[in-house]
Amino acid sequence: MADESQKRIDELKRRIRHVNLYTEYYYRIAYGYDATGIKGLCAGVAFPESQEDIVSIVLNAASLGIPLVPRGAGTGFSGGSVPADGSLVVSTEKMRRVLSFDRRIGEVEVESGIVNGELQNYLRPSGFFYPPDPASYKVSTIGGNIAENAGGPRAYKYGVTRRYVRSLKWITSDGEYLESGPGGPAAFLIGSEGTLGIIYSARLALFPIPKTRKTFLLGSSGDGNAIDIASNLLHSGFSPSVLEFIDSKTMRCVAEHMDILSIIEDRGNSSYLFLEVEGTEIETTDQQRHLNDFCERHGFLLTTAEGEEEREILWELRRSISPSLAKKGITKVNEDIALPLGKLAEAVVRIHELARDKNLDCYIFGHCGDGNLHVNIMTDRRKKLEMKRSGEFVRDLFSYVIAAGGTLSGEHGIGITKRPFLNLAFSPEELRLQEGIKNVMDPGAKLNPGKYFDKIVSAGRGWTS
Ligand SMILES: Cc1cc2nc3c(=O)[nH]c(=O)nc-3n(C[C@H](O)[C@H](O)[C@H](O)COP(=O)(O)OP(=O)(O)OC[C@H]3O[C@@H](n4cnc5c(N)ncnc54)[C@H](O)[C@@H]3O)c2cc1C
Repeated sequence: MADESQKRIDELKRRIRHVNLYTEYYYRIAYGYDATGIKGLCAGVAFPESQEDIVSIVLNAASLGIPLVPRGAGTGFSGGSVPADGSLVVSTEKMRRVLSFDRRIGEVEVESGIVNGELQNYLRPSGFFYPPDPASYKVSTIGGNIAENAGGPRAYKYGVTRRYVRSLKWITSDGEYLESGPGGPAAFLIGSEGTLGIIYSARLALFPIPKTRKTFLLGSSGDGNAIDIASNLLHSGFSPSVLEFIDSKTMRCVAEHMDILSIIEDRGNSSYLFLEVEGTEIETTDQQRHLNDFCERHGFLLTTAEGEEEREILWELRRSISPSLAKKGITKVNEDIALPLGKLAEAVVRIHELARDKNLDCYIFGHCGDGNLHVNIMTDRRKKLEMKRSGEFVRDLFSYVIAAGGTLSGEHGIGITKRPFLNLAFSPEELRLQEGIKNVMDPGAKLNPGKYFDKIVSAGRGWTS
């Protein structure tokens, strides 16, 4: 650590003795990366336990010129919580209390460090659930979910995080403690990736747990084909709560990983839909009958989870996609695009072509119900030429997606990894407006430097690499 950063962080430690703050090397390493594997070296890690702790950190760090990086569980896929060198990581992991729960109106208030899955476990006996459940829900925090406006498999029916935030309490970069609903400035905090304020707590809307849920895996032939099937299925009156796409290579990879190849049988290049319906027993049985008839008529392979145990296996299959891909290469170039629904099937075919042109190993899956596809290139960062081709692929991918009316991110945010491409998606005027918001909410650029907003304007047409 540079002497100057060391001195400043030591002084900060002296000033806020009541807050746990560690500067040992192992803390700085352990809190230096997220799920992208990108690394940064912070000067220390603080563990506030209350809003007062956050206020003291923010005020004292500001007077010493120490930038702050809010951090939940570090599962982000765009480098959002990777610290800038010499910064202080503010981990929310000691703030995970449920502050209040009002079952009459289906509302809960929680500290931002609570893990999504912990909240679901807390709510279950009451008959409520919190609908946004990213595939990382067993690990990721509510604060991180709000800061990324996380989506997930249920987004097709329930929408994404923003819809459930009734109000936020947060600390501004000037150390002020504020509360507002999404009609006020809190609207800017949702999806702000730790760049506009540190969220202390959130009041969230809940839904009653449906009486019955039934889960299915539908196999078709051809890579974009399952998406066309999804469209026909919806038009035929099928009404799922979960509508996920898995391409043939991804399915083979995850089935091998879980040792359940028998589920997919030998269907060559089949692509898959992962589906769930929910409601009363009568409603779900009716939907199941509808789906069975549809698949029989068209000759599609349908696997139905019989009972809770099989349902859990199918969900495990869906949630194991990311971990299973790790076996295909030590480096994952993980992009997360969103497209208009009518463009999805064609996009799957086109994206595989782009990858083939560059001789890259490509896997596509995602929340096709809300137009969000995850495009993964499995590679190895030590192979310089392959990494160069991956970089070219990503630029071609984003150029294609933007030209097709899509966006750079469906749910993983911009962070570090997508910053170079902001100029593809936004005009200079739009970028300047965004930086205006940053200047108002974080005038000294003290929060999460190097992410999203950083240097948008000074780089003119955006970043180049
Ligand atoms: C296997 C796997 C599956 C995933 N599946 C999904 C999915 O289905 N849907 C989806 O949307 N994402 C998914 N993700 C991505 C990731 O889990 C989400 O972005 C999640 O919301 C990040 O939460 P976190 O607690 O890990 O936050 P972190 O990674 O620690 O931080 C993410 C961002 O939030 C900011 N932040 C964190 N806490 C606060 C706070 N209290 N105040 C202000 N800013 C804060 C950080 O500065 C950073 O910019 C997945 C990731 C993995 C590894």
